[in-house]
Amino acid sequence: MKKTARIISFGTAVLAAVFAFPLSAGNSAREDILRQLDGKYGGIGVVVIEAGCAKIEYLFNETLVLNRRFPAGSIMKPLTAAVLIDHDGINGFRADAPVDCSGRFYPSNKNAPGASDENIFNLQTGENGQPYFKCSVRAGHGTTGLPSALIHSCNVFFLTKADQWDGCYEKLVSAWGLLKDPVTGNTLTRDASTPLQKVLACIGEGGERITVLKAAQCFNSLFSGAPLVIPNLNGKGNVLSDVAVSLGARERVTAILSSVSRTGTMKDFKFDNSAVRIIAAKTGTATHYRKKYDRHGWNVILFETNGKKMILVSFAMNGSGGKEAANVSSCVLNSWGNGK
Ligand SMILES: [Zn+2]
Repeated sequence: MKKTARIISFGTAVLAAVFAFPLSAGNSAREDILRQLDGKYGGIGVVVIEAGCAKIEYLFNETLVLNRRFPAGSIMKPLTAAVLIDHDGINGFRADAPVDCSGRFYPSNKNAPGASDENIFNLQTGENGQPYFKCSVRAGHGTTGLPSALIHSCNVFFLTKADQWDGCYEKLVSAWGLLKDPVTGNTLTRDASTPLQKVLACIGEGGERITVLKAAQCFNSLFSGAPLVIPNLNGKGNVLSDVAVSLGARERVTAILSSVSRTGTMKDFKFDNSAVRIIAAKTGTATHYRKKYDRHGWNVILFETNGKKMILVSFAMNGSGGKEAANVSSCVLNSWGNGK
């Protein structure tokens, strides 16, 4: 009881500080559009932080951004990719060995679905009667290496790697502090329990749910090489902890994500602001927790403006990363620098 009270007081302190500093004021046209999208998509959340120090530059829908946890979908893949790269060469595991994606992932026997998995996941049944999980491209991505799997968001590549390496899930969760509240550091309840849920967690399905603020914190570490900095209002963020991911792996993943807005899943993304340059990005579409069919949309975008690097995380309760979350991101980037 005491512990709960303390968590709430931490959260309230952050909220109170945010309300005292009108981050979401200053551009009423943008606020109007975001409020419309908020109604249309059943809730949206936006946070923009400065890369490195994690200073909060903009926040829309504080309660959702700080307090509500959602499956991350494909924005989990860059975090998984960095962990895979660090594991390369250990016990014969090869992070870069290509995977042949036919559009279907068949779990190995050790990770075969149980009854509880069948209730949660939208599993299909192959001609051989074996259950499988679909890739984002029905016909498959063909022979896919790690860079291409990230740029085009191939589920089969990541699921195959997580199926091969039994420790992938535990390493992913511990390396990025996914079960640590991004502000208090308190340990959150674990979502994934079955072997298949742990494999699917590596593509952001089945667990572990994260807040929009947590996504911003992890991607700040990925993109800037910083530890897990507590997002803050004054540019002097305290460090929650370091991440157990090499700088080399983080730099490599960031370099790969620079292709997403040129040739990958955000190649059709449009915004109109010459003061903003996108450096790297990732989209994600995640199944609602413990539901089979409804979808959340996510975007993470590293951008540069006026010599500063910023990280934008956009979330849409109902929708996809490529459409609804992208519309939220466009709205924020179109007006960035104009009354902020
Ligand atoms: Zn694929």
